[in-house]
Amino acid sequence: MTVPSEIARMHWQHELLSSIEVGIVVLDKDFRVEVWNQFMENHSGILPSRICETSLFGHFPEIDEQWLRAKADPVFSLKTPVFVIWEQRAHLFRFGSNRPITSDSDYMYQNVTMFPLTSTTGEVERMCMLVYDVTDQALGKRRVERLNDELKVMSRVDGLTGLYNRRYWQERFDYTFKLAKRRSKPITAMMLDIDHFKRVNDTYGHQAGDKVIQALASVIKRCVRETDLAGRYGGEEFAIILTDTQEEGAKKVAERIRKQAEETLVEHEGQQISFTVSLGLAEYSSECTSSMAWLELADQALYDAKQNGRNQYRIRRQH
Ligand code: GH3
Ligand code: MG
Ligand code: MG
Repeated sequence: MTVPSEIARMHWQHELLSSIEVGIVVLDKDFRVEVWNQFMENHSGILPSRICETSLFGHFPEIDEQWLRAKADPVFSLKTPVFVIWEQRAHLFRFGSNRPITSDSDYMYQNVTMFPLTSTTGEVERMCMLVYDVTDQALGKRRVERLNDELKVMSRVDGLTGLYNRRYWQERFDYTFKLAKRRSKPITAMMLDIDHFKRVNDTYGHQAGDKVIQALASVIKRCVRETDLAGRYGGEEFAIILTDTQEEGAKKVAERIRKQAEETLVEHEGQQISFTVSLGLAEYSSECTSSMAWLELADQALYDAKQNGRNQYRIRRQH
């Protein structure tokens, strides 16, 4: 039996609409649905027979009617296509994502294209809306962004201690210097260095030395505020920017670190290792000509502390 050609054509067109992995919706000017393909049916659970000839908005409370009408206006008035990408709006229809539960998306990310359907007389009475599932692409991009953030953090942080590394600390210190020149708030730079650290390495080994460095980093983290900036400046040397802190306040922080370091016992292969630190302080003054000159002052103060017998802090001022 031969099927009339018109029916045959409708059949394959229906097949085409059904098998395509893109949502196809045809809407009239008042957003009444005229075509609702298989993709839309599968993801919404709404049959074409139920939605056709009814308003789209009645079925999807998540769609902001005013927004969509305004967005689609150029399709009718200017006969131009309109795009809504997932970066602007994650989805138009709240369809579940069929990704594994472990993935971080509950909903399907969508790119939506709306374009005019012109009648034989050139009028635009309806538009076609294509809904693309871009969940994989969106999740991929999110993942890359997250990795980039992690990488950025990693490039700033010292692996052994979790404090800022020298490069990043120095960058922030240079910036702090510029800020200090313009602002009136006090800032103090602090340098510290473990006393007779070579002995720790020589007596207990390099690994034990590393543990001592980590223990001191923990002490520093406990003793400074979140707004302060602590970095590992060298092997067993640390540098800290104490924001909004005058010499007097910095002395208290220095003494706290000194005391806590002295009281810390580091356990290594059944042995208890104790250690002390020396510290140098220098408050910023307008006479500091460069960030290096300022840090040099703190370093000289540290040298004074070493010369004076270690396990103490010393202060230098720009005269
Ligand atoms: P001082 O009291 O004068 O500071 O004496 P010191 O022995 O601590 O002398 P100095 O600060 O010059 O010694 C630093 C030593 O730290 C030399 C180096 O072998 C060791 N060191 C540097 N980086 C590391 C590290 O990452 N791990 C370990 N275990 N040791 C390190
Ligand atoms: Mg040392
Ligand atoms: Mg040193």
